[in-house]
This record gives sequence, structure tokens and C-alpha cells, in this order.
Amino acid sequence: MSVDLQISDYYNKLLKRNAGEPEFHQALSEVLDSLKIVLGKDPHYADYGLVERLCEPERQFIFRVPWTDAEGNIRVNRGFRVQFNSALGPYKGGLRFHPSVNLGIIKFLGFEQIFKNSLTSLPIGGGKGGSDFDPKGKTDQEIMRFCQSFMTELYRHIGEYRDVPAGDIGVGGREIGYLFGQYRRLSNQHESGVLTGKGLSWGGSLVRTEATGYGTVYITEQMVQAHGEDLSGARAIVSGSGNVAIYAAAKAQELGATVVAMSDSAGYVTTPDGVDIELLKDVKENRRQRISTYAEEAGGNVAYHAGAGIWSVAADVALPCATQNELDGDAARQLIDNGVKYVAEGANMPCTPEAVHAFQDSHVNFVPGKAANAGGVATSALEMQQNASRDSWSFDYTDDRLRQIMSNIFTNIDKTAAEYDREGDYVAGANIAGFKKVADAMLAQGVI
Ligand code: NDP
Repeated sequence: MSVDLQISDYYNKLLKRNAGEPEFHQALSEVLDSLKIVLGKDPHYADYGLVERLCEPERQFIFRVPWTDAEGNIRVNRGFRVQFNSALGPYKGGLRFHPSVNLGIIKFLGFEQIFKNSLTSLPIGGGKGGSDFDPKGKTDQEIMRFCQSFMTELYRHIGEYRDVPAGDIGVGGREIGYLFGQYRRLSNQHESGVLTGKGLSWGGSLVRTEATGYGTVYITEQMVQAHGEDLSGARAIVSGSGNVAIYAAAKAQELGATVVAMSDSAGYVTTPDGVDIELLKDVKENRRQRISTYAEEAGGNVAYHAGAGIWSVAADVALPCATQNELDGDAARQLIDNGVKYVAEGANMPCTPEAVHAFQDSHVNFVPGKAANAGGVATSALEMQQNASRDSWSFDYTDDRLRQIMSNIFTNIDKTAAEYDREGDYVAGANIAGFKKVADAMLAQGVI
């Protein structure tokens, strides 16, 4: 059977076996497409059921999370943890609390995480978890009770050598604090390496908060420079206004770009003279308010627009940093018509396959999330190193390590794409480079 047919056959079986999980199908399809290129050149990667094993999580948990709301009502949510692949190290990947969470979304995120973590060159496997709990509008006490209930089940499945969760959408420093507290209580030990994204006084790492956004901009800068240009003077759109978006915007502006638009799930703001980062942090991080509040308080020529539409703003660089499938084919064509030259995914899978193809067909340089947002998990792995050695590093040292890791990732995906005759195709480069390291480890470790 030809490699193309073999991969199509795997894919069709995977669709049946994982019915009703469109985001997981989308992530599988993109990686399997790139694997056609590898298997054509290195057929031994088809041996020992490697591809089938790679696409099946090692273990997955679904559990009940009961908690009591502020009015005394009992609420029940669903918790998930998918331990996808531990060939390179303990499972590592965030927890997402958002009403849209379901098993398919956690599997797509866990699958992507395998290749992303491999690209960091650090010893971490891939996993992901979360809950359909909606933190919006909840009191601190409700958040705490939910986190404690969630950890009461999760704690038996995690550990510094087994599985190390972190934050993601809806899970920031506050939630990690409550989760860590409950883990410490249940396990009766201060095992700092069990979670990352911790507070600085109890095992956290400097730069972890900034890492994903900063890393996205570092790799964007590498890509821009590889094409003989500079970020200084560029106009950038950064979608979202959560953890990744805030620090992507901050670093982009520090490097001389002007962030001309940001968003949340209700609307977007246009900021032709750039974003006031201190005000943005105060509105979003301290007061947990909407991007519309930022517009009201920023004044001047900052305008708020309800609804979608952020991709209609003209820019040289687009950094989608909000959520999956937020940028579709039409949005990509708008960006292209307005002259966008560089796109890097700060979020996981924010561009639909149609959007990615539109960028590639128009020679817009595009770095996929598994490379562009790997700085977050890489710095989590640096946090684990500090925990293991009971040390804490300075901001500058940690930031230098992050910058070096992002630079190595860019070199690796660029070089790998060229080796497989896909020059400039960073999607293929990231999938192939990420895959080969995991695949070699899996082949060496036998059929398990
Ligand atoms: P946050 O919860 O901090 O922020 C998410 C932001 O995206 C919010 O501003 C949210 O707005 C906005 N958003 C959600 N849905 C939409 C939508 N449909 N359209 C526009 N905006 C939307 O999450 P993070 O910043 O941590 O995560 C963002 C993305 O980055 C996710 O894909 C995550 O998986 C990925 N990522 C995060 C990492 C991290 O270290 N945090 C690491 C690697 C990847 P609202 O408040 O209205 O919901």
C-alpha cells in the first residue's frame, strides 16, 4: 500500500474510533498530512504500529467534580485528564476551565502537546486536562471550592515524575494556588514539581507568566529577521486579552511594533497608536474586566467594536492568541488583502485548515502553535528544573533561556522543512521535527 493510502486508512479508522471529536480530527489530520512526507522518506517509522500508538492516548480519565456554589446549590461539572504520551518525560500540559471543554478538545490539545514538548528539547511528555466549569462571574470562594474538588480526584493521577499540569484558558495563578494547596493537603508533602505556574514564593519561576506571549514574539522576530526584516515599526494584531495575548502585546511593543488591535470573546478594540500595557494588565489581570472597559478607560482614538471582526484591521503581523478556530478562511483572506506578511499562533490551533492553506498559498510566513507557543511549556520545564534543584533563577537568566529555546525551535523547524523539500513550510517542519524525536524514543522503548 502507498504511504498516502496507508495514512488515509489510519485516519479513517481514527475518525470512527474517536467519533464526535472534530477538534481532535483536525489536529490529527494536520499531523498525519506531514507524516506522509516522513514515511515516504523514512519508511521504518511505519513499523511496530508506531503511528497508531502515537494517535492513541496512553491513558485518559473523566471524573465527576461536585462543588457548592455561593447560594448553597450543589453543582456538578466534568473533569478530564488525558495522559497522551510519556516517551520523552512525565506528561506535561495545562488545565483548561471553560464551558466548551469536552473530551475531544482535551485530546486535540494533548495530541498537539506531544509535538510541542518534543520541539522544546526538554524532557517532557504530552498531556492535557480541564473541566467544563465556567470561572466567569464566580466568586473567589466558589473558584477555590471547585479547584479543591477537582484536585481531590486528580491528585491520585499526577506527580513530579508522572504528570505535571499547568494553566491554560481559565486557569491562572489563582487557580494553580488553590489546586496546589489541595494537592499538598491530600498528599501530605510539599512536592513543588507537581504543578507549574506556581507563585514565586512557593516554587514558581520568574518569566513563567510572560513566557508563552514572549516566546511567540521571540519566534516571530526570528522569522521576520530570517526574511531580512525587523519587527520594529511593524503593525501587529494580537487577538485575545488573556495571559498569552497580554505578554505577546507587551513584548511586541518592547521590540518596536505597534499593537493595533486586541479582543475578547465579546468584541475587539482598535488601538492605532498602540496598547497601554499597564492599563491593560490592570483591567484584565487585577480587575478581571472586559476589553470594552480598556477602551472606555484608554480614551483618545481607542475604539471598541462589538462582535468578531478583529482580522479586518490592517497589519503586517497577526498573532492569534485567544482560542481554537478563531481565524477562518475569510478572515485569512482579509488579512492577506490588507498585506499581512507574518502569522504566528500564540493560541493552540487558532487558524482553521482553510486559513492555514490560504496563508501558505499566498506565501504569508506562518508558524503553527506547536512551535510558536512552546515558550510556555518550555518555561514550565525550567520551573521543574528549579524545583528539582531547589534553586530559583533570575528573570534575565530565565528569559535568556526562553529566548534561546525559541531560537533553537525556529532553526530546527526551518532546517527540517528544507531537509524534506518543504522550504519555508514551518507547519511541516514543526510536525516532522516534533514527531521524529518522539518516534525514535518510542521505537527504542518497544511496543508499549
Ligand atoms: P486566558 O483564559 O488567559 O485568555 C483567553 C483569552 O481569549 C480571553 O481574553 C478570552 O476572552 C479570549 N477568547 C476566548 N474565546 C474567544 C473568541 N472566540 N474570540 C475572541 N477571543 C476569545 O487563556 P490563555 O491566554 O492562557 O490561553 C489562550 C490560548 O493560548 C489558548 O489556546 C491556550 O491553549 C493557548 N496556550 C496558553 C498557554 C499558557 O501558558 N497560558 C501555553 C500555550 C498555549 P473572554 O475573557 O471573553 O473569554
